[in-house]
Amino acid sequence: MRFDLITALPGLVASPLAHSILQRAQTKGLVEVQVHDLRDYATDKHRQVDDYPFGGGAGMVLKAEPIFACYERLVDEARARGEAGPDAFVYLTPDGTTLTQDIASGFSLRRHVVLLAGHYKGVDQRVRDALITHELSIGDYVLSGGELPALVLIDAVVRLLPGVLGDAESALSDSFMDGLLDAPAYTRPADFRGMPVPEVLLSGNHTKIAEWRDDERLQKTRLRRPDLLDPSQRPSHP
Ligand code: SAM
Repeated sequence: MRFDLITALPGLVASPLAHSILQRAQTKGLVEVQVHDLRDYATDKHRQVDDYPFGGGAGMVLKAEPIFACYERLVDEARARGEAGPDAFVYLTPDGTTLTQDIASGFSLRRHVVLLAGHYKGVDQRVRDALITHELSIGDYVLSGGELPALVLIDAVVRLLPGVLGDAESALSDSFMDGLLDAPAYTRPADFRGMPVPEVLLSGNHTKIAEWRDDERLQKTRLRRPDLLDPSQRPSHP
């Protein structure tokens, strides 16, 4: 799978891509992530990628020209590699559809995803109208830029790609994978400052351990996220 991330601040994303699971997935050749500096596609001598909003008001708007130029370059390069081109162009935006595990799973089946990180007031609407295929939010709050949301999406997707996690079973029992939250986890020592690990986890009885975990997952989900068990309780978004 391949991600191309278009950003005006490429320095913001370097470190998370160079560590842990994301770094290992790239080294193993399971995913390729390329970061593109929007300023390289600016046409004026100051490499300006933003401008004042028509109609006035606070905040700058990312210009359409460099985004179109960068995306068109990515399409041309994909075709030159003998590929059809990107199969999704995602704009990270607070007014998009809220990212869920299901959406991440859906993206993990795609081949080539281009991501656009906005800044300031956002991007020129014509980019969204003409190029963007998916608009995703990582939650109902506003960040300064789309770089962290883009990394959140990449991370959520990459850990689902076959071969990325050492123990694929671990991802299968993660929260949301089957509609439940994950069970509590413990490691050594078995007794820490008078707080013992539940007996059953030390029993070696795998059937009983699995039953205990299922039970814990159900109880926790009922308590914390009843909407996962009964969609009618899901908070409605305007
Ligand atoms: N004016 C925009 C609005 O109110 O919807 C917010 C712009 S925000 C300050 C700048 C950029 O950060 C956005 O273009 C988007 O790329 C990114 N961003 C901020 N919050 C986000 C969120 N919750 N999910 C995804 N992207 C977000």
